[in-house]
Amino acid sequence: MTDAKRRIDALIARAVHPTTPEEEARTSALIAVRQARENGLTLVDAAAHAREIASLQNTIESLLATMPEPAEYAPPPPPPTARPRRKGEPFVTLVSKYDGKCKACSERYLSGDEIAWMRERGATHYACREWFYGVAS
Ligand SMILES: [Zn+2]
Repeated sequence: MTDAKRRIDALIARAVHPTTPEEEARTSALIAVRQARENGLTLVDAAAHAREIASLQNTIESLLATMPEPAEYAPPPPPPTARPRRKGEPFVTLVSKYDGKCKACSERYLSGDEIAWMRERGATHYACREWFYGVAS
């Protein structure tokens, strides 16, 4: 609660207290209204707000109840599979089981990446194969 709101609450409490003298009650109420206006405070229907929040919570809970469990989401795509070897290609393409270093560009490839491999020359990124093996696509 802000200081302004705390002051206004205290003024209202004094204004409506049964033992506050009439004149002091009027003055307290007037100051409370002026301070509320100066601080941009307005009256709200707290009960209506509470009902609205409860309704939103119900909506959220019913939406959550109809959401599928994580296991029901689409399964992950299958891992890439090796492409069939094309006629004249000196290499095979496969999905690497290990991390390694590309013979063509010297950058790393990771387990699961598609690579081109030739027994005598080693492995390259799939994208580096044509340059390294001198084969046009
Ligand atoms: Zn490479």
